[in-house]
Amino acid sequence: MLANDTIVALATAPGESAIAVTRLSGPDAIAIASKLFRGRLSPADSASHRILFGSFLGDDGSPLDSVLLSVFRSPRSYTGEDVVEISSHGGTAIPRAIVDVLVRAGARAARPGEFTERAFRNGKLDLAQAESVAALIRARSERSLRAAMGALGGSLSRRVAAVDSELVELLAEVEARIDFPADVSEALNGVELGRRCSRIAGSVREWVERIPGARRAQEGVRAALVGRANVGKSSLLNALVGYDRAIVDVDPGTTRDTVEESIWIEGVELRIADTAGLRAGADRVEGLGVARSARAARDCDLAVLVLDRSDGVGDADREAASWVEDRPVVVAWNKADLSAGSVPRPRAPVSGARIVEEVETVAVRPGGAESLLGALRSAMPRVLGEHVGEEIATTSVRQEGLLMEALAALERAEAGLGADQSYDLIAVDLADARRALGEIVGRGVDDDVTAAVFARFCIGK
Ligand code: GDP
Repeated sequence: MLANDTIVALATAPGESAIAVTRLSGPDAIAIASKLFRGRLSPADSASHRILFGSFLGDDGSPLDSVLLSVFRSPRSYTGEDVVEISSHGGTAIPRAIVDVLVRAGARAARPGEFTERAFRNGKLDLAQAESVAALIRARSERSLRAAMGALGGSLSRRVAAVDSELVELLAEVEARIDFPADVSEALNGVELGRRCSRIAGSVREWVERIPGARRAQEGVRAALVGRANVGKSSLLNALVGYDRAIVDVDPGTTRDTVEESIWIEGVELRIADTAGLRAGADRVEGLGVARSARAARDCDLAVLVLDRSDGVGDADREAASWVEDRPVVVAWNKADLSAGSVPRPRAPVSGARIVEEVETVAVRPGGAESLLGALRSAMPRVLGEHVGEEIATTSVRQEGLLMEALAALERAEAGLGADQSYDLIAVDLADARRALGEIVGRGVDDDVTAAVFARFCIGK
């Protein structure tokens, strides 16, 4: 379905920049650009995939800016339509003037995501790939970038297609039993069908189970530094991040707020929150910080419990540990420089099964937090799942919901086959699984769903 109007938008972020790119797409893109461009070659006479240098003209015909103009002819363009991209000087005024002039010359201002929506409608991308474009733009770490690139390249769509083709075969067998119960081959008895269904369900289940880890790898792992006041949480955060971000003070209770900093470990963002010291008798302002700390601690994927190596383990330490009760824990025995080496280390107030690593640190000494950095690195597989990197990453909550729907339907079919249920019912479940899988790539989704997907895009994409 080709749209009949021509849309325009600034494709780069507005604001001060060296260059800006304005994108024009639709049946009149080349004609409109030709009216407003003066150079050796007119876009109207240019072959596809050529770059032209010249002046972009204002309404009065005088030059507005020197530009490079790229011409892409349908169907060999991002949207599948005729596309012209105008690279002008950046800033606020020039790109805005160019868009305005193009609108007065007959183009319409594009809605958010409308270029990618057209690419989807013209069969350039499926819906999963379109969503990965949004994920690509949002990516904050190398890992999320790789996941989005993979999905954009079609890895997710291919996996969906592979599962679907197995489902089609199974469904055909089941339907044959509904229509011609006498003709089905004995070789494929009910048990074998059940086995096949379990195999398909198993592979989807494995995929679903890897979602939380894959999501953390993409969106960042949340870690929280917890511990009683003055054990050195802020100092450790500073040491990890490499500069003085958190306030360090000798008075207990100076960390009133939750400070968050990111470090990147093997392409994964680790967002570390420093929580306000958990201290009895905290004043009200500090109390608010404590509430926020409690939340950061409760929601974390990985806890770093900081204890004072030069001191014993007391109630305040046990309380701090209780905030992150069911999380994997890295224990950092800080102030190791103050401990008399001969004093045996007490037991950390957490169950041994949850301790991923236990290290000693000297937050205030250069390199004194290296051991903690190493511990965080080796804790990553525990948080991300052992198979991280091998998963076919989903790039939206919509896709994940559909994958879980497909799994639920497959599990119903699996149970039905095991219980000798009627083949009609099993066929319904298998068809339901196919529908959910299909919707991941946009098959059979209604316009409301696609509209919702593209509404989350930025303008110009
Ligand atoms: P927080 O309340 O847990 O965030 O603790 P801070 O990071 O504010 O540190 C409290 C005090 O302990 C400050 O005076 C730090 O300089 C000091 N401190 C932190 N880590 C160490 C360490 O490893 N060795 C020594 N000697 N002092 C430290």
